[in-house]
Amino acid sequence: MTGDPISAVRGARGMDGSLVDLRIADGIVVDVAAASARPPAAGELDAAGMLVLAPGVEPHAHLDKALVVDDIGPVYGGLLQGIAAWQRHAPTLDEDDFVRRGLALVRRYLANGVTAVRTHAEIFPSADPLRSVRALVRVRQLVRDAVDLQIAVLPKNDIPDEVVHAALDAGADLVGGSPHTAADPAAEVDRLIAIARARGVGMDIHADERLDPASLTAVRLARAVAAEPLAGTVTASHCVSLGLLEAAALTEAAGALRAGGVGVVACPATNLYLQGRDRPVATPRGVTAVRGLLEHGVVVAGGGDNVRDTINPLGDADHLTTAALLVMTAHLTIEEAYAAVSDAGRRLLGLPPAGPVMGAVADLVLLDAPTLAAAVAGGARSRSVVRRGRLASVRRVDEELVSLP
Ligand SMILES: [Zn+2]
Repeated sequence: MTGDPISAVRGARGMDGSLVDLRIADGIVVDVAAASARPPAAGELDAAGMLVLAPGVEPHAHLDKALVVDDIGPVYGGLLQGIAAWQRHAPTLDEDDFVRRGLALVRRYLANGVTAVRTHAEIFPSADPLRSVRALVRVRQLVRDAVDLQIAVLPKNDIPDEVVHAALDAGADLVGGSPHTAADPAAEVDRLIAIARARGVGMDIHADERLDPASLTAVRLARAVAAEPLAGTVTASHCVSLGLLEAAALTEAAGALRAGGVGVVACPATNLYLQGRDRPVATPRGVTAVRGLLEHGVVVAGGGDNVRDTINPLGDADHLTTAALLVMTAHLTIEEAYAAVSDAGRRLLGLPPAGPVMGAVADLVLLDAPTLAAAVAGGARSRSVVRRGRLASVRRVDEELVSLP
């Protein structure tokens, strides 16, 4: 699955512009030093001045929905239209089809430099409700040497508890859900927490994905886990409504999230696409209060979310695109945005730090770009990826402008 162990990455460009050598042992970066002049030896990777960064993380994916646009065309609508289109199409898909598309998408993530992904897996109200969960468990096994894949089961509100338990029995790692779409959102939050507590696992819910400042299921979740913590990490994804709160209300909500240790995943691409379609002027952005949450000490990661599915016909599985959107929509600095799509994502996934730092896991992305700013601006098409000290992916893009000097 991955190449031979690499003992060093030689001549990589650090964030400060200097050239460095990284020594690697047992999948860990054990030394970072100024680049030596000697040529690379056998077993060493010549970075040739490429920029070396911490690996990307996709903390919010839907491998089961992905890559259907070429089959059924784009859906131009909001969340409910996208879900309806998916519910029409999903019954035509079997377990092998979920595996095929899931694997194809993981390949795109890895080639872009993403070595950790959390996907949601839907339960279908049908005779075979767990085929997506089973398929993604197979994908997790197939890609385990190259990518850390976590699966959050995503039950609709009418899926009985025993089916959610069956999904966890089948191999899902966390309890998800979308309580803001329930008739009684608070009761649905409590139900999902009870299942996670009974199973000793973490949670990652679709939270408050609507332009309604009164929709605060994430806060209810946070208060519950602050009072009695869960065994695993707890994440609220989207949190669109937090982006509509006045300062005092945001302070209160963010304080609850911080106290509960609940991380937030902002999904700028999908929420820019879905939200505000009925407001042709002064259209709200739909992106959560990223800056405010950070200022209150909440861990905020950036997610790419949907990739060419019925919810969003676009998406490129590239954490650099998500970083760029966080700069443009949430006004993060480029460095803050890259941290949101790398280090912060690993924290939310409960993974140890990775990147070109002594003591970190030797998952690295090498980019053909002079600076982080150039990379986030879309200038890094050639990329190499190191996974636990082994070469995992190489992409070289050639360009020949035959009509220009
Ligand atoms: Zn989602």
